[in-house]
Amino acid sequence: MLKKLKSLLTQEEEAFALLKNQYPLIANKSDAEILSYFELERSEIVAFSKDFKNLYEETKHHPLEQNTICKCTDANNQPKNLYNTREEAEKTRSFLKTSQNTTLTIYHCPHTKGWHLSKG
Ligand SMILES: [Zn+2]
Repeated sequence: MLKKLKSLLTQEEEAFALLKNQYPLIANKSDAEILSYFELERSEIVAFSKDFKNLYEETKHHPLEQNTICKCTDANNQPKNLYNTREEAEKTRSFLKTSQNTTLTIYHCPHTKGWHLSKG
């Protein structure tokens, strides 16, 4: 029982550390302030950070060439990320909003059933 509690606390600590590491904005805030920043309950922080980590790795490491289905490009002529579902695009959109303060809009790919994010 105690061991279980301890491992949960470690996970929470790691979750906070991960988020602080990625969001310079909250690096100096207390745990409680961070929870209120993300509008989370303490019990949600571990799952949130895992989700966050996955998205982070995805946006960072998944090269855009993943998208071999449509030929849509961005302003720099780079192939755009294609999201299979609106939920997926929405998730990445809110991730980029909080992590990089970038506001993007979601639109339907004109050539496939997927979705893209756009700065415009
Ligand atoms: Zn497209």
